[in-house]
Amino acid sequence: MRAYKSEIKPTGEQARLINQTIGVTRYVYNLFIMKNQDRYKRNLSFMSGYDFSRWLNNRHSKQNQWIKDVSSKAVKQSIMNADKSYRGFFSKKTGFPSYKKKSLKGSFYLIGTIKVGRHRIFLPKLKWIRLKEYGYIPNDNIKSATVSREGNRYFVSVLVDESPTQTISTEKSEPIGLDLGLKETVYLSNGQKLMSIYRNKQLLKLNQSLKRQQRKLARKQKGSNNRYKQLLKTNRLYQRISNIKSDMKRKFIHAIIATNPQYITIENLNIKGMMKNRRLSNALQQTGLGYIVEWLKLKSKQSDIELRQVSRFYPSSQLCHCCNHRQKMPLNKRIFRCENCGNETDRDLNASINLVNARDYVVLT
Ligand SMILES: [Zn+2]
Repeated sequence: MRAYKSEIKPTGEQARLINQTIGVTRYVYNLFIMKNQDRYKRNLSFMSGYDFSRWLNNRHSKQNQWIKDVSSKAVKQSIMNADKSYRGFFSKKTGFPSYKKKSLKGSFYLIGTIKVGRHRIFLPKLKWIRLKEYGYIPNDNIKSATVSREGNRYFVSVLVDESPTQTISTEKSEPIGLDLGLKETVYLSNGQKLMSIYRNKQLLKLNQSLKRQQRKLARKQKGSNNRYKQLLKTNRLYQRISNIKSDMKRKFIHAIIATNPQYITIENLNIKGMMKNRRLSNALQQTGLGYIVEWLKLKSKQSDIELRQVSRFYPSSQLCHCCNHRQKMPLNKRIFRCENCGNETDRDLNASINLVNARDYVVLT
């Protein structure tokens, strides 16, 4: 199980319902504690979560219809949480359970129909709520959700069952060398092109208008209302671009995993070192390499694919993939022209073939 947490943007009505649900779940939690404290003092037996739930439904809710206005699953879970802390008290592991205080923080738990769209999530009772981050939460095997409030911000955290899925075909295809560097194009070692973030027309266009908006922003007077408006506009655009990019990365990794390669070899990127180089660090931020590597690890593990990483000093771009001759390859040289055997290969393709052939590596998954 893995948790994915994302900020949500509820409508006014949804926010009201979330606040109400937090209030009701806190109320029943405290009521459970109070009820049992009272029974304890009067030497009566402990009322379990199940009994309390029945009692609440039959008697209490008749006078308090507002309890039924919110998700019954959320109420039930809150009772079971109270039950659990009470049992902890009996087994002397914890102190006497305390009441939940009213505050700007709070959460509740939901199960039932939970679906994820590109930019929204469907939750029981609350229906579709906008997600702040597009494409982060996967839409498979969601087991439950926790909605929370922190001050004026709202979040959803979903639990996803990510245990390895059984693949029918276990036949592996050619290994893949992934030269994840700062590439216009990512090649597989068989020469197949996979991704080109920089050549995506929509992204190029959005990037241009982002630059325009940023210039506009710089001209606005500091502290003015217009500047604030322009700032919001710029931020929205920035967010949109980064969402499209994460979507592309996700698809990119999916495409690699789908070929079911024998193994995948990646570089050991010295990200700290690269960040010192201004030109590189900018490109690095653009591709979000750390994110790609983490996802690759997770997905390789799930699909039972060996993920290899070569040593930091393995010169994948400086070796000739034909004769192993080593030569200097400045970043602006796009074609590898071997000074020894005359082989000419695209720089990135050459590097990715070298990665596949590397003999010195660590196994990550
Ligand atoms: Zn050569």
